[in-house]
Amino acid sequence: MTRARSARGEGVLSIAVPRWQDLRATLDVHLPSTEVLRRLVPILLIIFGVVAFAGLASQIGNDKDAALTSAQRELSLIASVTALTLKEYTPKSSKSWQKALANSLPKRATRDGRTALVADAEGNIQARAPINNFQQDNLLTILGPQQPLTIMGEDAGVLQIFLSDGTDAIVTVRNIPQTDMQVAFVQPISEALREWRGDAIIEITLLVCAGLVLALIAGGLWYLVPSAAREGADTLARELSEALPGCGVWRWNLARGHVHWSASMYRLLNLEPSADAMPFRDLAKALHPDDDLRAELDRHMRERISTFDQCFRLRHAEGHWVSVHLRGHITRSYGDSEPYLIGMAVFADQDIAPGSPDANARLRDAVETISEAFVLWDNQNRLVMCNSKYQQFHGLPDDMARPGSSYDDVIAAASEPIVSKRIAVAGKNGIDTRTYEAQIEDGRWLHINERRTRDGGYVSVGTDITILKESQQRLGESEHQHRDTITELRTSRRELEQQKQQLVDLAEKYGLEKNRAEDANRAKSEFLANISHELRTPLNAVIGFSEVMQQALFGPLGHPKYQEYARDIYASGAYLLEVINDILDMSKIEAGRMGLDVSRVDVADIIEDSMKVVNQAANERDITLKRHGQERLSIEADRRALKQIFLNLLSNAVKFTRDSGNIDVHMSRVRGQVKIAIKDTGIGIADTDIAKLCKPFEQVENQFSKSHQGSGLGLAISRALVELHGGSLKIKSREGQGTTVTCLLPSRAVAADDTPVAKARSAENV
Ligand code: ADP
Repeated sequence: MTRARSARGEGVLSIAVPRWQDLRATLDVHLPSTEVLRRLVPILLIIFGVVAFAGLASQIGNDKDAALTSAQRELSLIASVTALTLKEYTPKSSKSWQKALANSLPKRATRDGRTALVADAEGNIQARAPINNFQQDNLLTILGPQQPLTIMGEDAGVLQIFLSDGTDAIVTVRNIPQTDMQVAFVQPISEALREWRGDAIIEITLLVCAGLVLALIAGGLWYLVPSAAREGADTLARELSEALPGCGVWRWNLARGHVHWSASMYRLLNLEPSADAMPFRDLAKALHPDDDLRAELDRHMRERISTFDQCFRLRHAEGHWVSVHLRGHITRSYGDSEPYLIGMAVFADQDIAPGSPDANARLRDAVETISEAFVLWDNQNRLVMCNSKYQQFHGLPDDMARPGSSYDDVIAAASEPIVSKRIAVAGKNGIDTRTYEAQIEDGRWLHINERRTRDGGYVSVGTDITILKESQQRLGESEHQHRDTITELRTSRRELEQQKQQLVDLAEKYGLEKNRAEDANRAKSEFLANISHELRTPLNAVIGFSEVMQQALFGPLGHPKYQEYARDIYASGAYLLEVINDILDMSKIEAGRMGLDVSRVDVADIIEDSMKVVNQAANERDITLKRHGQERLSIEADRRALKQIFLNLLSNAVKFTRDSGNIDVHMSRVRGQVKIAIKDTGIGIADTDIAKLCKPFEQVENQFSKSHQGSGLGLAISRALVELHGGSLKIKSREGQGTTVTCLLPSRAVAADDTPVAKARSAENV
C-alpha cells in the first residue's frame, strides 16, 4: 500500500492541488480593517437615527409648548385691548355692539382661528367676529356651564377647555369696564398650533431625507469596502493561477449562481477570457451531462460539508471533454454573508501531457507488474496503455499494443473471448461498471471488470480465474456424484425398508406357524401319551396271560406248538411294551411332563446293575463287557432315569457290536462332573448320520436295510434325560471301528432355565 501511495503521489495521474485554506489565510491578512469598517457602518447609522429622532421629538415637543404659550399670550393681549377699546365705544343700543366690536378689534385679532364674542350679563351674545363663527345665542352654551371664565373674567386668565361642541380650544374672557358686558376670545388648539405643525412636518421630512441619504452612503460603503477586499483576493488568485500552469481559480456565489473564473481557467478551455460573472446555466452547458455538479454542491450545502473536492468534465472549445479536479472551500465569510465556493481547478489532462515521461514510465511499470490483464482506453476509443498480460490473454501483437491504436483495430487483431456469463453491476454515480466472466481461446477463464473513467474513457481489468473455475467444475461434478449416491442410498434404504417389512411379515408368519407346530406337537405328544397308556393296559394282560400260559400254571397246553406260541406272544408283548414305554417317555419329555425324582445315588452302582441286565446278551455273543474307573461315584440324580439311560446305551453297544467284540465302560470325575464313557468295537456310525441321531424316531438304517430291532427312541430319550439333569451327551464314532457315547452328569441335578429339567419342572408346577 505504501508503495502504491507513493507511486500515486509522484505518478502521472497525481495532481498537486494547492490547499485553498492556505490561499484564504493569505487573503485574510488584508481583511480586518475593511471588515471592521463594514460592520461599523450600519451600527453608526442606527445610532445616528436614534439620536436624531430623539432630538427631533424633543424639539418638536418644546416648540409645541412654546407655540401654545405664545398663542395664549397673544389671545390674552388681544382680549385686554379689545375690552378697553370697547369701553370707549360703548353703544347706546344693543344692536350697535356688532359695530362697536368691529371697531374695537386690534389688527389680526381674528386671524389664526380666533373668534371674538360679546355677551351681556345673561350671556346672550350681542356681537361676534368673524360673524359666521359660533352661531349659538348664549356664551355659556358655547363655553359650557362649568368653566370659571365668565364668572372670574380676567382673573381666570387664558384657559384650555373643551367647548360644548367638543372642540379643544384656548379661551379667555374680559369684563368690559363700566358695563355689564363681557368679551370672550376663543381659539381652537388646532388653529393655535397650525404654524407649529407645519414646522414639525418640515423638520421630520428633513430628518427622514437625511437618514435616507446616510443609508445610501452606508450601503455604498458596505458594497464598496468588500469590493476592495475581493479585488485584493482576486488579484492574489490571479497571480496564483498565473504561477500555477494548468490551474484556474473559481469563485462561485452559490446564492446567486454566479461563477467567476480566473483568466487562466478560460485559457485552459481555450475560451475568450471575461471579467464578468458567468451564470450557472452557461456553466451547466459546458459540463458533461453525467457530471451533476449542482447536485454535489446542494449535497455539500445540505450536509454542511465545507470542503469541496470533485472531478468532472468540461467541454473544451475544440469540442472534446477535459477532466477538471476542483478543490475548494464553501464559506460565508468571504465578501458578504452569501455562501461562496472558492476553489482551485486543476486540469488533469495537463499533467498527463507528454511533459512528464518519468511519471508515464512509472505508471507503465506499475501496470506491468500487476498480475491482472489491464487495458485503458481514452474517450476517443484509442488505446492509452495495456500490459503484457492483456496482450498474452488476447494474443495481441506488439504493434497493436501501442498507445493510440484504435479500439476496432485492437479488437480485430485480438482473439475474441468466448463470453459465457455476464454479471452486470449497477453503475455508481452514473459511471457504468460491468463485470463478466469470459473464456479465451486457450481455454483459460477470465473475470473481467470494466469501468468508465471520468474523462469518458474506459478501463478494463481481467483476472485469471481458471483454477477457480476448474475447482468449481470439480465441485459441481462431485456434487453430482454425491447427489447420485444419495439417490442410490435412498433407493436401497427403501428396499431395505421393504425387506424389513417382508421380514416382519415372515417373522409374524413364522411365529404363527411355530405356535401352530408347537400346538400340533403338543397335541401329538398328548395323543401318544394317551394312546400308549391305553395300549399298555391290554398289553399287560397279553403279557401276563401269555406268561401264565408259557409256564402252564393251570396245566399243560397240550400241543408243544402252543408252548412255543405262548413264548413268542410273551416276547412280542414285552418288546411292544418296551416300545410303548419308550414312546410314552419321549412324549412325556416333549410335552414337558417328565419329572425327576432326585436323590443321592451311586452312579457306579447303577452302571453295575445295568451291565448285569445286558450281560446275558453279551455273553451269548461272546462280547466282553468291562467296567473301569472309580468304584463309587455319588451324585444327586433320578435313579430310574439314570438306569434307563445306561440300559439304552449298553443295550445299543451290545446290539451293534460284532460277536467277540469288546465293550468298555469308563467312569471318572471331571471338574466336579461325573463322566461315563461307553466304548464299543461295533459297526460304528457314519459322520453324516451322527447329527441325525438323538432326534426322536431317527434310525440310521431304514425300514428295509434294518437288521436290528428298535424304535429309534433310545438315544433321544437318553439325551433328553441327561439334559434334564443338567448334563450333556456326546457321540463319537467311526464306521467299522466302534462308537463311544459319553455322558457328563453334574454332581447335583441342575435345573437351568432353558434346560429340559427346568421346562419339565415348570410344566409340573402348571
Ligand atoms: P433303537 O431302539 O432303534 O436302537 P436307538 O435310538 O437306541 O434306537 O438307536 C438309534 C440307532 O442308532 C440305531 O438304530 C443304530 O443304527 C444306531 N446306534 C445306536 N447305538 C449304536 C452303537 N453303539 N453302534 C452302532 N450304531 C448304533
